[in-house]
Amino acid sequence: PIYFDNHATTAVDPRVLEAMLPTFTEVFGNPSSVGHLFGEDAKQLVESCQQSLATLLNAEPSEIVFTSGATESNNLAIAGVLTQRRRRGDHIVTVTTEHKAVLDPIEHFEHQGFQVSRLVPRQKGDPWAGYLDPQQVEDAIRPDTGLVSIMLANNEIGVIHPLAEIGAICKQAGVLLHCDATQAVGKIPVDVQKLGVDLMSFSAHKIYGPKGVGALYVRKSGPRVRLQPAILGGGQQRGIRSGTLNVPGIVGLAEAVRLAVAEMSEETARLTTLRQRLWDGLRQRIDGLHLNGPELDRPEVRLAGNLNFAVEKVDGEALMMNVREIAVSSGSACTSANPQPSHVLRALGLSEDLTRSSLRFGLGRFNSVSEVEFAVDVVSNAVDKLRKLIV
Ligand code: PMP
Repeated sequence: PIYFDNHATTAVDPRVLEAMLPTFTEVFGNPSSVGHLFGEDAKQLVESCQQSLATLLNAEPSEIVFTSGATESNNLAIAGVLTQRRRRGDHIVTVTTEHKAVLDPIEHFEHQGFQVSRLVPRQKGDPWAGYLDPQQVEDAIRPDTGLVSIMLANNEIGVIHPLAEIGAICKQAGVLLHCDATQAVGKIPVDVQKLGVDLMSFSAHKIYGPKGVGALYVRKSGPRVRLQPAILGGGQQRGIRSGTLNVPGIVGLAEAVRLAVAEMSEETARLTTLRQRLWDGLRQRIDGLHLNGPELDRPEVRLAGNLNFAVEKVDGEALMMNVREIAVSSGSACTSANPQPSHVLRALGLSEDLTRSSLRFGLGRFNSVSEVEFAVDVVSNAVDKLRKLIV
């Protein structure tokens, strides 16, 4: 099968692997063992990764906290702010289309008595479907709002939210802003100063780095962000996140971000062309396709590699069963642990049927034109076959 599920995860780029290899056998010291050269070498390596990431994101090295991935980063940011004794208030603002790794921790605090405003983005039919207007955030903020959490790019429909405007609104109101930038870092320009975020999560395995490593940006300048740690222990990373540093993962994360940023503009152009070819090919051969999310000719509000569409008059499960030669996601298996219809597509106003018969392509670095043509064949043949069965 050909892999098109690059929003779920990506293959490690051989260049990233190469950068990681020495950390397994040569620079294997514990960065906290500063009494000898093995530890010092590892510490230096981690610091150079932190410096490189900070430069790429326009942050300070000490503002980068390494974690096991974006799920942990999101949990650390949300719980870290909300369990902090001196937080501003018990009201949270978020959007219905966030990843579960944001929605679930927020729901946990709702059960503890916090109040939550879940904003609804623009609906299907709008050229910017899935987009959150900054005004909605401004209107939702109250004197007791303690945290706003809005993602930068959505993992299902690729919509890009106006974080810089939202950041300015939060700053004006004096409210902390967390941003899940997991699908954005390395794909679109991300500058923590321009975005005005106080906390920002990202992960290596979405951008050709290894699984199990990510980071949380925690602002130190201006009004200081106080975080309650979630993992206690050896006091690493200034006590915010204890545990021996994952040196191979950190090297992989830093190299993955470096490569993605260096190649961003060329790769964006290439993926835009590939995606257009895919969508044109599909529309030529299949009737009754509905694009989910913003129009494709709006690069300012949609990731280049993302295509998500619903197929009318086919059963979603049957469709997935018949496109096994390609690896894509369906509108009902967004989180494999619970095959519910996608909460993101439902939030845009799609019916349950159209949600279930939706396919998500995440085109990536290793996809080619011939692979896209193959995908057009596989999907159109499957739809033809299934529709013939119905009549
Ligand atoms: N947030 C978003 C937007 C994501 O796409 C993902 C990955 N599906 C996550 C968070 C979770 O990231 P990780 O796998 O690194 O925990």
